[in-house]
Amino acid sequence: MALVVQKYGGTSMGSVERIRNVAKRVAKTYDAGNDMVVVVSAMAGETNKLVALANEVCEFPDTREYDVLVAAGEQVSIALLAMCLKAMGYKAKSYLGFQVPVLTDTSYSKARIESIDDKKMRADLKEGTILIVAGFQGVDEFGNVTTLGRGGSDTSAVALAAALKADVCEIFTDVDGVYTTDPNICKDAKKIERISYEEMLELASLGAKVLQIRSVEFASKYNVDVHVRSSFNENLGTMVTKEDKEMEAVLVSGIAYAKDEVKIAVMQVPDKPGIAAQILSPLSDANISVDMIVQNVSEAGSTDFTFTVPQADFKKALSITKETAAAIHAKEVLSDESVTKVSIVGLGMRSHAGVATTMFQALAKEGINIQMISTSEIKISVVVDAKYTELAVRVLHDAFGLAGK
Ligand code: ADP
Ligand code: ASP
Ligand code: MG
Repeated sequence: MALVVQKYGGTSMGSVERIRNVAKRVAKTYDAGNDMVVVVSAMAGETNKLVALANEVCEFPDTREYDVLVAAGEQVSIALLAMCLKAMGYKAKSYLGFQVPVLTDTSYSKARIESIDDKKMRADLKEGTILIVAGFQGVDEFGNVTTLGRGGSDTSAVALAAALKADVCEIFTDVDGVYTTDPNICKDAKKIERISYEEMLELASLGAKVLQIRSVEFASKYNVDVHVRSSFNENLGTMVTKEDKEMEAVLVSGIAYAKDEVKIAVMQVPDKPGIAAQILSPLSDANISVDMIVQNVSEAGSTDFTFTVPQADFKKALSITKETAAAIHAKEVLSDESVTKVSIVGLGMRSHAGVATTMFQALAKEGINIQMISTSEIKISVVVDAKYTELAVRVLHDAFGLAGK
């Protein structure tokens, strides 16, 4: 008998009919003799609706109440799935994050899981109960409801699999696995059979929302093999696992894009030591993570300092940066919401020169201007005008021969 953790995402839970389909799939795995912990997301679109409501009520919603609100979607779906299974004659029980409990820190809307108590779950499993756990949510040491960031149910599932030392961790979604790029914008995208934690971590952090980045961090830290597959068929998906020799042979394994970044530029900053820290520390104090940073060559004693932040933090970041800019006597603060970060990722880039040149030439050939660049050992990212997103992804997918893999 194995312990199986399965996670079903928003689309898979998107209607009553789909929830019934999930119940049938869960029942089938249970009937095959497995213990089951099932993590579910809110029904498709529900979390977005809740976020929109918060933003309608006020400009800067209180962070504690925001989490109480957005966690609500998962409460609905766990109950519906548990009802379905019970109506089918199975023993099932829903668990909210605080009932497990899934203990997190207090960083509302981006909380980190600190520990998971498996006592109650183990007792229920022993009695043959199928556990249905709300993804995305936890509780801090003071009893406050917290949420793990958008897409956080993936992290709930992997963390539960790690805590319970599950034999199998399956992430069921609306595509057949992890592809060379988003199959919804590039019809030539190919399914990757096995991908290393490291590459998946880069793809996820660069926008491939098929897995939330923290779920991959957890998987890598606790060595959980994660099987990403479709809830609409029986096909084998993608195994996210430890790097092996075969994986290294691939130069570029995937292309990711992130539309949810915004560019902020502080213009004509007096160029002297300490300026970068002065601009960035108020943002990190506000728990806003800055991604790409470019500082222009100084001209006549002043410089331009440009960086990107997540769209969700944009209003706050802009108002903080404007305050800083005034304090350090910068000329002005500009912002651009219509940018996209497009990235190529591959373990093989470690040992190959010329990858950047191929990337830049491919973009130049289509007249796509590069606004910012950042590189690491296994990725290169560029920021381009958002209107070129699909084109840039397809051009790079072709340039690195991914369609023909
Ligand atoms: P769920 O609701 O199941 O969590 P998500 O919408 O969060 O599903 O993630 C699945 C989506 O991720 C796919 O529908 C696809 O559009 C997108 N995606 C982006 N990049 C990739 C990729 N490289 N491989 C597969 N899917 C990707
Ligand atoms: N419902 C949450 C979201 O939409 C969590 C998830 O789907 O993983 O972000
Ligand atoms: Mg998701």
